[in-house]
Order: sequence, then structure tokens, then C-alpha cells
Amino acid sequence: MLPFIRSDLAQLTAYTPHPESASGDFVSPPTSSDRLDANESPFDLPGELKEKLAWTYQQLIEANRYPDGSHGELKQAIAAYVSEASQSPITSTQISVGNGSDELIRSLLIATCIGGEGAILVADPTFSMYAILANTLGIPVVSVGRSQINFEINLEEAQAAIAQTQTPPIRVVFVVHPNSPTGNALTAREIAWLKSLPEHILVVIDEAYFEFSQNTLVGELQQHPNWVVLRTFSKAFRLAAHRVGYGIAHPELIAALEKVRLPYNLPSFTQAAALIALKHRQEILASIPEMLAEREKLTDAIARFPDWQVWRSAANFIYLRPKTATSANDILTRTAQALKQQGTSIRHTGGGFRITIGRPEENARSISRLSSRD
Ligand SMILES: *Cc1c(COP(=O)(O)O)cnc(C)c1O
Repeated sequence: MLPFIRSDLAQLTAYTPHPESASGDFVSPPTSSDRLDANESPFDLPGELKEKLAWTYQQLIEANRYPDGSHGELKQAIAAYVSEASQSPITSTQISVGNGSDELIRSLLIATCIGGEGAILVADPTFSMYAILANTLGIPVVSVGRSQINFEINLEEAQAAIAQTQTPPIRVVFVVHPNSPTGNALTAREIAWLKSLPEHILVVIDEAYFEFSQNTLVGELQQHPNWVVLRTFSKAFRLAAHRVGYGIAHPELIAALEKVRLPYNLPSFTQAAALIALKHRQEILASIPEMLAEREKLTDAIARFPDWQVWRSAANFIYLRPKTATSANDILTRTAQALKQQGTSIRHTGGGFRITIGRPEENARSISRLSSRD
């Protein structure tokens, strides 16, 4: 280790987006592989929209100039979009835009916990980025469990963790609605618990899959200035390549996020892509009903396999585990390897598989390749 590097970084490893393919013991997949491990949309942006974007780059974007560091136009368009599905209108003072919602997660951690001021609470299995980013900032992570039946957070354990006097105290609770990798939306009990949390604890509700679930807590923000809702353009909006996410919260929390972000965090081209996607959202989001129908077909097919348990999902992926508890991890590792060799990449995480809903032919291959491993 270089002598000037922080000593706690020695324990950390760099994030690998596709851990299965990064490890050495895998045979390389056929070139036509089904990439069902990152919950991206299987559909690229429609050709005409790419042409519009190319035109915008050629005619409107000055490559020699810095981007709009205030994201003014984009924030307004996002505020209008969010307001459509919410009883109370949202204004751009309640929006902060990030280079992916990953950036906003990091900004939230910087604005709340860094320097020994706070710890975060997560319920595993959940989105790994919260703990990964907290670790890089030296922020302690407290993990609690979930029901093994419906993946509801163990609220007694969570409440006990918060009540316990510890240094530093828990300052932020992260939840995903619906959760990744397990696909379950927050239950009424979980929401009631979040509402009961004191105002000195920040509640982060990650709605990365909102367009699939159509279930949002944005309407609660008015009553809860200690809540923030995160969304992304990486999933239903088909813009993972462009890195855009946003947070919706009380203007004072937004102001804090704006203080800690990099001034030009969003390239002009990315802002243009997000604006075009919002303008043409009806066309882009029109693929969702078909994906939800595909999700039900995939879930029903796997539910008939004798050796796998699959859960109903509110997102664009499903979650399954081997029914046997003995050597479940070996089964998962071997099955992921076999699927990979046949050309299907899935995510082995949290003691199960998370499989993204792909194009119909990809989903059909997921079923037949899994059935041969059943
Ligand atoms: C995919 C995903 C995100 C999106 O991250 P980006 O940085 O916006 O691509 C955020 N949260 C969860 C839970 C996700 O699954």
C-alpha cells in the first residue's frame, strides 16, 4: 500500500459491475449473451430519439463550454414529471440532479454522516451501493435482517439498533421501494415505522423502480422534511449509459446536497439526453406493460420448478432461491456459472438470484436454461 493512502482503504475492493464475469474461473460466454444482471432496460433508446440527440449535439451543444451547472431546465422538467404522479406539486427547489443516483447517495452521506458524525442503517439483502459508498467515506454501516418469507424489514431489530446508544449514532436509514434484489414494495407496517422515526434521522427512499411499481411516497414529503426520495433514468427511461439520477426533498435538504456536489457533475450531452427522454416519455415508457406481463410469465414458469422458490416482484426483475438450505450457495454458484456458459448473465446476490426482465426471447431462454438446472 502506498504510504499516503488512508489505511482503512486497504480493506476495501473496487466495485465490479459484473462480479461473475470478473472472476477467473469462468468460461467466457458466447458473444450473443443475455445481460440480465444489472436491471437495465433491454430496449435501447428508439432510433429517432437517438437522432434527435445527435442533432442536439451537433447544433446546440458547444463542446468548448462548460455544462449548465445549475441544471435549471432539467430540474424543471423533472419537477413537472414527478408532479404528474403526486397529489402535491413538486417545484425545482425540491430537486437535486446527480451523475446517477449513486452520486446522490454519496452526496447524502457526505452531507450527513462523514467525519464521525453518523452511521447508516440498511436491511440486508438490499442495494449494495449504500454500504459500499459509506465504507469509502469511513461511515459505519449497521445491518439488520429481513423476514425470510416476504422480505419485510425486521422492524424490532431496526428499532433496537436506532434506540441503542452508539457512537456515532444512526443518522440515515436507507430503504428501497421496491427493494433490490428481492422486489418487494414497502409494507404498511414498514411505512408506519418510517413515519415514526424522529426528525433527526434522515430517511432515504430509493424509488429506482418507480416506473414499474407505480407506487411512490413522494406525496409524503410535505409532511416529512426528513425524507428524501431518489429516482433514476437508468432503468425504465433506458438511459443507463448517460448517468442521471435525482433526489426529491425539502428545499433545505436539497440546498445541502447542492453544496457538496461537484459544480459540473452532469455533462451537457447527458442533460440533453434526460430532457429528450422526459419529453418523449410516453413512447419510452410504453414498453413497461409488456415487461410486466413478461415478468408474470417468468415468475409463473419458475414457480412450477420443484427446486426453486420465486417471489412476486413489483420491479423489472425477479428474485429466486433454491428451496434446499443445504449447500444453497454451491448450487447458486454452479447454476450461475452454467447459465453464464449458455449465455445468460444473472446476479447472484443475497443468497439468491436476481434476474432482470429482458426481451421475450431472453426471458424464454432464462426459463429453459434454468429448467435444465432444476
Ligand atoms: C439501479 C439502481 C439505482 C440506479 O443507480 P444510478 O446510479 O442512477 O444508475 C439506484 N438505486 C437502486 C436500488 C438501483 O437498483
